[in-house]
Amino acid sequence: MANTSKLQAKPLRKLIAGNWKMNGLSKDIGEIKRLHTLLKKTPVQADIAICPPATLLVPMAQVTRGSDIRLGGQDCHVAQSGAHTGDISAAMIKNTGARYVIIGHSERRTDHNETNAMVAQKMEAAHNAGLIAIMCLGETLKERKSGKALAIIGGQLRGSLAKTATAKNTVIAYEPVWAIGTGLVPTNAEIMAAHLHLRKNLVKKLGVEGAKTRILYGGSVKPSNAEEILNLVNVDGALVGGASLKASDFIQIIRSVG
Ligand code: PEP
Repeated sequence: MANTSKLQAKPLRKLIAGNWKMNGLSKDIGEIKRLHTLLKKTPVQADIAICPPATLLVPMAQVTRGSDIRLGGQDCHVAQSGAHTGDISAAMIKNTGARYVIIGHSERRTDHNETNAMVAQKMEAAHNAGLIAIMCLGETLKERKSGKALAIIGGQLRGSLAKTATAKNTVIAYEPVWAIGTGLVPTNAEIMAAHLHLRKNLVKKLGVEGAKTRILYGGSVKPSNAEEILNLVNVDGALVGGASLKASDFIQIIRSVG
């Protein structure tokens, strides 16, 4: 295993990404306009992304033009085009002006039986389209209680990472399944242990690129706990679900970046 003191030479620029999931109608674009206005008042030292439902990518691209807010999709198909009714390709997401795409979210791994191998293919498709893949992984409560959390997330990372992955085109999001949308959050020690384990695995797989790959924490991040979580070693940002839906909450999380 690599020398842990050399795993991350200097802190990485943080990414605060919002995952709107299956929420948002055209009337909710106002939240992005509000976020844009709030950011103009106080610029922040972090990358900011919103991943709305695909139906809002184009209208949101219009209202975020010229701002620091980047957009992302929530999933992509492995193919660039073709007979896949209801699916969206990475090229289509890129074509809206988006920069990111979330892949392998636990809700997709569960609802759509997505395997590590499928997630790796999606990551490669995202890279080939010029998108940054935000790849999610995390253990269930049962896995944590049985002491297998680190083994599970290490296996997910190794199995879901495409051979095209670099520090520039890949972000990892550690999202314990039991913390998503529940209000439950792991202890600081548990978050740091998970992120260190992922960092070690990234360095083993990608060498120096692994030390520069951002690892986000996700799962019940809110204005009241963001600063503490974002200050932990190897936490390079946050993936935020519920608290990203309102500009007034999301801006507080963004401003927690020191
Ligand atoms: C998510 O689903 O990516 C997430 C982190 O959700 P929440 O912040 O609502 O727990």
